[in-house]
Amino acid sequence: MSRHRSPGDTWECTALEAAMAERTGTSHRVRGTHRVAPPSSAVRGRVVVAAVAIGAFAAATAGQTLQGGNTSTDVQPLADSKDASAAIGIGGNGNTTRVSNTVSSAAPEILTIAKTSAAPLEAQKIAATDQIVRQRAAQLAAIEAERNRPKFVRPAQGRLTSGYGARWGTTHYGLDIANSLGTPIVAAADGVVIEAGPASGFGLWVRIQHSDGTITVYGHMDSFSVSEGQEVKAGEQIARIGNRGYSTGPHLHFEVWDADGLKLNPANWLSEHGVYV
Ligand SMILES: [Zn+2]
Repeated sequence: MSRHRSPGDTWECTALEAAMAERTGTSHRVRGTHRVAPPSSAVRGRVVVAAVAIGAFAAATAGQTLQGGNTSTDVQPLADSKDASAAIGIGGNGNTTRVSNTVSSAAPEILTIAKTSAAPLEAQKIAATDQIVRQRAAQLAAIEAERNRPKFVRPAQGRLTSGYGARWGTTHYGLDIANSLGTPIVAAADGVVIEAGPASGFGLWVRIQHSDGTITVYGHMDSFSVSEGQEVKAGEQIARIGNRGYSTGPHLHFEVWDADGLKLNPANWLSEHGVYV
């Protein structure tokens, strides 16, 4: 606690100051036999706080006094005494005993009240601020994670066994990725499942529609784990590789249809989105 004293001050340690010093362990000495000079603004501030705490002031009056008061009349309502400083224990009227008693019985209690009522409030403010900061950090982390996550992925790991194009006198409209039975199949991009179930030639299939109208098709799976209407993210598992339908071994048959139903080359579509198979 800082003290601001000019060389001309005659007071050394008011009774209130003594109480304050006692709380902080600072050595002090009460010397109230002489009349003290007007207390510093800092001291007056504490005096007014003390007065409020013991109910001598209305809260509004205290606020005004704290902000603007410069003379001892600020604290006159506290007592009938013309010397308000003496009435609340600053300096005094020459009666050392009275000053000491006043302060020793009142000041510590007043200061304790002020401290216990203010500390939880400050703690609440800090906790609320911390929570806002944490929430904002979590939001930013989520935004960053969303920005950085892949939006297009390879639909399954494995060996390419057939591409898009002419094959055996007909056209193969998909991309075949062979792997062991049960290997995960994932959504190639964000979208909504528009169909999941049996399909001729595919055994089972899952079709996912994406925001631009493109549809990705996954066939021959052993099982699927999504349902119609479900939203999925790129890389989210939707099924497992199987050998159902017209299939010569466990593999994923993957097709890409544009918004008009035209079957695109899946490898080209993937590479256009940064995925190379
Ligand atoms: Zn195929």
